[in-house]
Amino acid sequence: MTSSLDQFCQRIPKCELHAHLNGSLSTKTMKKLLKHHQDKYPGEIPHEKLNDYIEKNQQMEGLDFGIFDVVRSITDNPAAVRMATYDVIQEFEQDGVRYLELRSTPRGVEGRMTKSEYCDSVIDGILDAQKDGFEIIVRFLISIDRRKLEDFDENVGLFLKLRKRYPEILAGLDISGDPRVNSITELLPKLGELREQGVKCSIHSAEILNESETIDVLRYKPDRIGHGTFIHPETGGTQHQLDELLRTETPVECCLTSNVLCKTSPSYAKHHANYLHNDGISIMLCTDDKGVFKCSLSGEYELAMKHFGWDKDFMFNLSFSSIDHIFATDEIKMKLKKEWEQWKMNNQHLFEC
Ligand SMILES: [Zn+2]
Repeated sequence: MTSSLDQFCQRIPKCELHAHLNGSLSTKTMKKLLKHHQDKYPGEIPHEKLNDYIEKNQQMEGLDFGIFDVVRSITDNPAAVRMATYDVIQEFEQDGVRYLELRSTPRGVEGRMTKSEYCDSVIDGILDAQKDGFEIIVRFLISIDRRKLEDFDENVGLFLKLRKRYPEILAGLDISGDPRVNSITELLPKLGELREQGVKCSIHSAEILNESETIDVLRYKPDRIGHGTFIHPETGGTQHQLDELLRTETPVECCLTSNVLCKTSPSYAKHHANYLHNDGISIMLCTDDKGVFKCSLSGEYELAMKHFGWDKDFMFNLSFSSIDHIFATDEIKMKLKKEWEQWKMNNQHLFEC
């Protein structure tokens, strides 16, 4: 990799559409939050594995969902959630992200914050960034953890309540969590009703091979799916699933480093993003959890160029077309497309070297 490629991937305007707030905390932010925690709750250890995680700069490997309990332990109060949100936004902006959708599961912590206060703190972090003049546009997706499907109605209620107050910020829902637990098929009728109220939804799908659930999800026709790892027959999926993905034209959020480190993709070169793109599926490159995977969106762009042979024009077009799939108004989409075009006109020299 030449340094000019790093620079190109960093400078190209990008949309980040699949980023979990707590999984996106950098080591620098974790250190800051640990200090804040120590000052606020002297003598308390947020999680027995937290120090090791921070000091050894550990990254997630395999489907080790326990690591999220470690990183979440540091954001157990409103001030920490607000700071975490602000820092994550700042880091994405510094990486050339111009439009960001942050997703997070509302979390209550006994005696420290309610789920409602958790969401308010995320929104406060977004508003702080706006007030400080960040140009990146940020939206919030409320997540529903498939391990706690009983929380669905409560979390949707929170989303609808907050959307009335902040229609610009609350952009939609995300269904996520350990793909080996529960079935989300039972949620689909409710999600269908929410769609009638204009609620957008992205669903983590096919992170493991689960044909019946994946077919059900695709037939519901979500606005986007996350991962879609085991859909294509060349990457452990089935023709039936691929046919359904093609028929429904569902866009797929693809997270290269996340899937390779979780070992659901065998290598970057054999990642499903390339297979899906070659078969005409719209894909968007995303980071998933840039903190626990120690990655960045510009780094993901670089990996795609290196392993799939995609060139600079291709990457620009990929980034540009991701605007069509954001959970924002047509006005915002138009604004971003103009910004991307202007950037390309001003930076032709970056495409020539
Ligand atoms: Zn995810």
